[in-house]
Amino acid sequence: MDIILNNKTLQAALADEASYLLERQKHTRYQIIGQPKKFRRVLIHGAAFLFTADEKDKVQVKTNYSIYIVDGIIKDVFPKGRKRIPENKIDVIYDASKRSGIVITPGFINAHSHPPMYLLRSSMTLDKGNVVDQVAKMAELEAKMNQEDFFLGSVGDFTEEQKNGITTILSHYGVFEPIEKAAKLTHQNVINAISAVSNSHPNNSPKLVEKYLKNKNKYFSKPALAIHYLHRPTAVQFKEIRRLVKKYNVLLTMHAAETEVWVQACIDKYGKRTVEAAVDLGLAGSNLILSHGVHLSEDEIKLIKKYKIGVVHLPTSNKIHKSGELKYPLFVKHGADKLLALGTDSVISKNTLDLLSEALQMRIMHQDRQRVTYEDLFKMMTSQAATILKLGKVGRILPGYRADLAFWKLRDRGFMPYNENKPVSLIGNMITHGGRSVRDLMINGEFVISNRLHNLINESKLMSELQKVHMDLRKRIND
Ligand SMILES: [Zn+2]
Repeated sequence: MDIILNNKTLQAALADEASYLLERQKHTRYQIIGQPKKFRRVLIHGAAFLFTADEKDKVQVKTNYSIYIVDGIIKDVFPKGRKRIPENKIDVIYDASKRSGIVITPGFINAHSHPPMYLLRSSMTLDKGNVVDQVAKMAELEAKMNQEDFFLGSVGDFTEEQKNGITTILSHYGVFEPIEKAAKLTHQNVINAISAVSNSHPNNSPKLVEKYLKNKNKYFSKPALAIHYLHRPTAVQFKEIRRLVKKYNVLLTMHAAETEVWVQACIDKYGKRTVEAAVDLGLAGSNLILSHGVHLSEDEIKLIKKYKIGVVHLPTSNKIHKSGELKYPLFVKHGADKLLALGTDSVISKNTLDLLSEALQMRIMHQDRQRVTYEDLFKMMTSQAATILKLGKVGRILPGYRADLAFWKLRDRGFMPYNENKPVSLIGNMITHGGRSVRDLMINGEFVISNRLHNLINESKLMSELQKVHMDLRKRIND
């Protein structure tokens, strides 16, 4: 059997290191045509498998397909060999067929995260102690973070998410500029929702958010509105928030019904539960994105469906913080499951910023009451999330769509072995195996990760820098 290596010891392998490295170099899949200044036109040749929802939102698994991309937009998707794109119309060819080939999915969409908090990894290990104390300690650290920390944390967050195939993130945080800067640096698509009313950033106001919304075309990220919880803002602030949502047609996101305590806070203030109060406040509509939604009543779930409100499901976060479990069967009963997307929250609430493992977590959380199919999970990470976040032509591999694509090696753990007669089973394999790293990643038609290396960020140096800045932060609370 040739699965056995000739070099049986490390000694033997190292003696031949040069030829080993040479062999690795041959493994590139990129071929440049001519001497293009920019790789504007990309042909992805013969992907072993391509997973995507179609226009009718049915998940398709296509075998041996090519994708042609011009200026960040998918121009054509066709069976390999069915068509020839002339070489003078190609700047770079990515061979997705050789060595068992590549599986291509749309880049995943993370509908809820707090990127700067990446710097706080390990501040909540829950080895000992309890959630409440550790969250309090984490908040103490977070309060000492400065603009540079927010920026570096966001770079850490975005690049980790990119490795896990995520090309679009909804960021919910109290600052705008550091996240904007990190998005620009890493070329990540970011909906940059900034708190209009914030405890941790008391100077934030609807007026401040309007400044960003007015200048939205000047930014790399897409400005949006956030509030921490519904019971925070005053009536005057809500009036302003409603005006901004309407005038700029932007998303408004907030944490909602995460715990029973927060539901009660809403009842205390408005005499009604979260979604009912949101309706009264004139906020209900497709621009509203609620995160968690754990403790929603059946009537509220009906309102979610009626007003087309997006809900971000965060099962891992809900488990870690002992918040409870989203009533998925009721979402299905009322057709509101089509309004669900998945999110990671921060590294305080889920230690890997990955959606595949989150999809698995969702399936396991609900399996005794309601099966969540792999195809539905796949849509929650791609097309359905794009619809909820109003991203337009994003989240599918179809002509006219934005070329956000994740490339996964087929000959890899968890994918193989699979049933060749039923390739859709690969989606189940991909999710049940948990997280995995991309081989390559394309965002807006540009390769941001190639041959498993980030093209814009030196990850080793980033790790050292994060470590140093993290310890500096701990010093500020004498920890
Ligand atoms: Zn959150």
